[in-house]
Amino acid sequence: MRFDTVIIGGGLAGMTCGIRLAEAGQRCAIVSQGQSAIHFSSGSFDLLGHLPDGRSVTDPVAGIAELAETAPSHPYSKIGAERCARYAQEAPELLRSAGIQVAGDSRRNHFRITPMGKAKATWLTIDGYLTTDEAGRLPFKTVCIVNVEGFLDFYPEFIAQEFREAGVTCRFGSFNHPDVEQIRKNPSEMRSANIARVFDHEANLEAFAAELRKLAEGCDALILPALIGINRNDSLEFLRTRVGLPIYLLPTLPPSIPGIRAQQALQRRFRALGGEYFLGDSVVSAEMEGSRVARIFTANHGNIPFEAAHFVLATGSFFSKGLQATPDRIVEPVFGADTEFVPNRAEWYTLRFFDRQAYQAFGVKTDSALRVVKEGQVLENLYGAGAGLAGFHPVQEECGAGVSMLSALHVAENISGMKR
Ligand SMILES: Cc1cc2nc3c(=O)[nH]c(=O)nc-3n(C[C@H](O)[C@H](O)[C@H](O)COP(=O)(O)OP(=O)(O)OC[C@H]3O[C@@H](n4cnc5c(N)ncnc54)[C@H](O)[C@@H]3O)c2cc1C
Repeated sequence: MRFDTVIIGGGLAGMTCGIRLAEAGQRCAIVSQGQSAIHFSSGSFDLLGHLPDGRSVTDPVAGIAELAETAPSHPYSKIGAERCARYAQEAPELLRSAGIQVAGDSRRNHFRITPMGKAKATWLTIDGYLTTDEAGRLPFKTVCIVNVEGFLDFYPEFIAQEFREAGVTCRFGSFNHPDVEQIRKNPSEMRSANIARVFDHEANLEAFAAELRKLAEGCDALILPALIGINRNDSLEFLRTRVGLPIYLLPTLPPSIPGIRAQQALQRRFRALGGEYFLGDSVVSAEMEGSRVARIFTANHGNIPFEAAHFVLATGSFFSKGLQATPDRIVEPVFGADTEFVPNRAEWYTLRFFDRQAYQAFGVKTDSALRVVKEGQVLENLYGAGAGLAGFHPVQEECGAGVSMLSALHVAENISGMKR
């Protein structure tokens, strides 16, 4: 099989790159092993929340410009501040073109509310999720936090504790339904995706709306866990119209309904543009010709090669097995690319979980065009994008989705030669 570009990994980075290349007219394939980090997403996309020295960032574009001095090997520094600013304008357009409605501004972070009720700085949030422009200020005075009976991945009490500190009066409500009781017979099935399927049925959503109307009395808003709309787009609007009050969603513990929906939407967009998506297949080896990747082989296609002018390594970090740790080194398993890591294993992590962990910045070595380096040599037609890149701390710097999307757009531009 021959393509213009083959992308390995179908997470946020692989999808973004594939969509942009397909938009540029390339014949493109994505080979992806399985679920990606986006299935666990909060419903928000971070660009830059903190600088490496811990200072918080209000204006991500200005923060990115500072990284050139303080963190020259950060993917944003390699891409360059000006380009990052441009890609940060293009990324939300790409999401919207796939049907993922997001709001946010790359010049000013807003705050999303976490499953524990805390405010966290972020860049883009999917419509319907509770956000605020100022931490400690919420857009209501009296709120009812509603859970589905027996759902344990949502914590109304913790949320209320945080809301009360912002001067909000909190009430609690719960909803039950025979179809939910059916799921509850096996407690391990009481997960967000299964419950969301119950609410995809019009009659069940109608029953939920009727209960919410009662719970809404005396409140100026309702808070629900993100348990609706896995297969239908209008669920939140449906409830809002029937209840007649603002209703906001809060993310739950994984699996994430907004993440699953986003993944499906990106996949649909890629296929609609003519892209070929090989889900459930993994790339197991590659053949080189000099400093070029000539072809790759996958588990499902055996000795039938995937050939292309360009390849993109978007296999993620440790979470997706794009990187693997052995006792003494960090390995990139498909190409055996060079990786950046601290040689002394004792320095890879600290036992204080919330500290800045060195291993999080380990990753694949690339040049400034994000071309992958192997045995000290830049590979001419293999680019790296996303969570597997070296040089950044997605958790402490709050820049995970931003690095994935901006690096993918940069790679797509380098491959297609097309600037938007
Ligand atoms: C649990 C979790 C939650 C997160 N939540 C957020 C959030 O809410 N907001 C935010 O901004 N950031 C979040 N992040 C940061 C996250 O890394 C990025 O947002 C982004 O989604 C990463 O996308 P990616 O495509 O680079 O990598 P991944 O999402 O890891 O995708 C890599 C893909 O490559 C595939 N793959 C791996 N090896 C192979 C192979 N050999 N052959 C074929 N396919 C392969 C994997 O199956 C996977 O589908 C989160 C990260 C994690 C781990």
